[in-house]
Amino acid sequence: MALAPNVYDAEPIPETARAEIERLLTSGDLFRYTCPGDSPVALLEAEFAELMGAKYALAVASCSAALFLSLKALDLPRGAKVLIPAFTFAAVPSAVLHADCVPVLVEVAGNYRIDMADFAAKLDGADAVMISHMRGHTSDMDAIMALADERGLPVIEDAAHSLGTTWRGRNIGTIGRIGCFSFQSYKLLNSGEGGILITDDAEIAARAVIMSGAYEHNWKKHKGPRGENAPDLADAFARWQNRLPLYNTRLNNLSAALIRPQLPEVARRVRDGRRNHDYVAGILDASDWLSVPAKLPPEERAPDSIQFNLVGMTDDEARAFQDAAAARGVKVQIFGMSDDNARAFWNWRFLGEVPDLPQTRAMLMRASDTRLPARLTRADCDFVAGALVGAAEDVKGRALAYGT
Ligand SMILES: *Cc1c(COP(=O)(O)O)cnc(C)c1O
Repeated sequence: MALAPNVYDAEPIPETARAEIERLLTSGDLFRYTCPGDSPVALLEAEFAELMGAKYALAVASCSAALFLSLKALDLPRGAKVLIPAFTFAAVPSAVLHADCVPVLVEVAGNYRIDMADFAAKLDGADAVMISHMRGHTSDMDAIMALADERGLPVIEDAAHSLGTTWRGRNIGTIGRIGCFSFQSYKLLNSGEGGILITDDAEIAARAVIMSGAYEHNWKKHKGPRGENAPDLADAFARWQNRLPLYNTRLNNLSAALIRPQLPEVARRVRDGRRNHDYVAGILDASDWLSVPAKLPPEERAPDSIQFNLVGMTDDEARAFQDAAAARGVKVQIFGMSDDNARAFWNWRFLGEVPDLPQTRAMLMRASDTRLPARLTRADCDFVAGALVGAAEDVKGRALAYGT
């Protein structure tokens, strides 16, 4: 019998990282601001900005730190209301809270995307929008940008888990005013911990750089596009010098040395992840009990996991499905079916009163999540798909599948 694939291990770090890490170990030069020339962190920023087609990039300790700094960089007043989707990782409302803002939760539909009617209804009184492309599922960015632009509201994209996803051919994270990405080990680029924000706005870039911990004149080590000196960036640095608190949430050189050799791997990881996802999705969709929501037409996905909805199952059957899949060697998490899932909004008790959002709640009670890394083979994908379809049949029987 085939063995269940290991879906938890990350890919090995490319061999080419070793020489640079060895060099850093020998020199001990781990802080981004000590070396006189471009540090590995500064090089990573330039390369990442280039890869994404953005003017400025700032590498920081995590995507959460990037989200927090984005809100601070926008200079929002204390108590500002920030729209966020009700289906996201707890780091998102946490970043809003950390920035002394108030999250306003927006309903998410059965296809994991923002309910645009609820979004439009909640825009009155909002000061900013933070879109989380949860698991890469991209909401209608045309409609979101049109509505936000109409009111002059800044949009931050939480693209933590969406690197490589495109919308009308544009990289996710470059559509709003700021885009944030994660280098945590479950994401497409892995340095254990780390994050990066990108923007084309010199004022925002300068404020974020200073607050990330570019104390004194360390901001001079941050350059404009393609490493050039950018006068608008220099002006903004001069304007904000000594006027912003330092949150010291920088990235260190070792982490940058781990990420840089992975950048050329992004295209391959995206291609293989999409291949695996679409193959497994086709098999799951053929089951009467499983349904993979279609992407919106302008999106090209970059998945390293698959989400699908259970169809026609009660709560007990949904729990039995999770158990049956586990017995077949594949771990499935129904987002709303555990009392600690960080993606179920009712578990965000740190917010105090959480509104009821019946549509998002209903989705979370049937939406299932399985890891599907890019490195899996066709046989691995067959194993995962077979286990999921088999688990649904264990619970619901085969009868309906044959149209009786
Ligand atoms: C992982 C993730 C984050 C947080 O990233 P960290 O780097 O761990 O802080 C935020 N939002 C989403 C959607 C994520 O998947």
